[in-house]
Amino acid sequence: MLSLQNQRQPKTTPLVDDYEISDTVLGLGINGKVVQCTNRRTKQNYALKVLLDNEKARREVDLHWRVSGCRHIVNIIDVYENTYSGRKCLLVVMECMEGGELFQRIQDKADGAFTEREAAQIMHEICAAVHYLHSRDIAHRDLKPENVLYTSKEPNAILKLTDFGFAKETFSNDTLQTPCYTPYYVAPEVLGPLKYDKSCDIWSLGVVMYIIMCGFPPFYSNHGLAISPGMKKRIRTGQYDFPDPEWTNVSQAAKDLIKGMLNVDPSKRLTIDDVLRNNWIAQFKAVPQTPLCTGRMLKEGEEIWPEVQEEMTRSLATMRVDYDQVSCPHFTNLQLAVFHSFCLLALQMQIKALDKSNNPLLTKRRKKIEKIEQLYAAQ
Ligand code: ADP
Repeated sequence: MLSLQNQRQPKTTPLVDDYEISDTVLGLGINGKVVQCTNRRTKQNYALKVLLDNEKARREVDLHWRVSGCRHIVNIIDVYENTYSGRKCLLVVMECMEGGELFQRIQDKADGAFTEREAAQIMHEICAAVHYLHSRDIAHRDLKPENVLYTSKEPNAILKLTDFGFAKETFSNDTLQTPCYTPYYVAPEVLGPLKYDKSCDIWSLGVVMYIIMCGFPPFYSNHGLAISPGMKKRIRTGQYDFPDPEWTNVSQAAKDLIKGMLNVDPSKRLTIDDVLRNNWIAQFKAVPQTPLCTGRMLKEGEEIWPEVQEEMTRSLATMRVDYDQVSCPHFTNLQLAVFHSFCLLALQMQIKALDKSNNPLLTKRRKKIEKIEQLYAAQ
């Protein structure tokens, strides 16, 4: 089981000694409710997320805790390890995001009151969170509208990213290219796929930016199915457009940025550094104040919004699996076969040197070889 970072150990005293749990539900997630709680001493309100204590939950809390110092990431205040009815739970006390979800706030704005410049400022804030994560080799992998929340209802509220349930530490190519780890003959494309976890976040940024600009998503499912084969194909082949009249007045700079973020080939997709260097983001205060139709379109599509959210959730799930298996849409079967044989060769060469050893790492690698062989056989 993963241990939480040194000085960041959950408290083992009962949470209810310090906080009063209220009936107010702040949101529903896949892991249960997020409820409001109040610090008994200061009377300050917080949000409480309850997770069953297991390896996945530990990873979520560990990664979230590590990055919660960022201005644009929801702050963790306290973590408790308590047992309820014999079940060990992790109780995460976070700052309470009283401003609610990003798109609700845009929807509540008067028609025409939301401009391209405001959209650029919002994107700038979300990108700051993603940059904070990626520069620490952490991919969020679940960046979607309901995970972007405002601190308060005030105009100067800060936008913050939350929910690290699918976050993953990524290892840069540099780590893998150290002479003791990877033999020199491994082709760059073999090392390449490991970067893709981060590019999943950039795809999300592209989808979120598209919706911010017009109020509807770039990819639709045709038959009311959450993710139809047609929609999957459209995502994979990058089939979306910027229809009139909603996109008529939107700047070309914004459209080009979206195109760069939604590039179907994750190796060609912009990185977070590219995005932050892009003028539309970097110079967001100079972006034209063109009124956008986002608020009105969100209102009109209110009924299908849960479906939009579900579609994004499923697309991200598919993408996480695809990128984990390296079966990225732009890889042909031949490229995959080459990739798998390279892996096989590399791993076999490494294992030859260690063959007589009995260490757990070796056993893990053997299992990996078997898995790659199975994948190769399945081609
Ligand atoms: P899950 O991992 O189970 O999906 P989330 O962390 O995404 O749970 O939380 C579910 C919902 O709860 C969010 O979409 C949001 O509406 C609400 N929520 C989460 N964290 C907070 C918070 N700190 N303050 C206010 N509401 C929150």
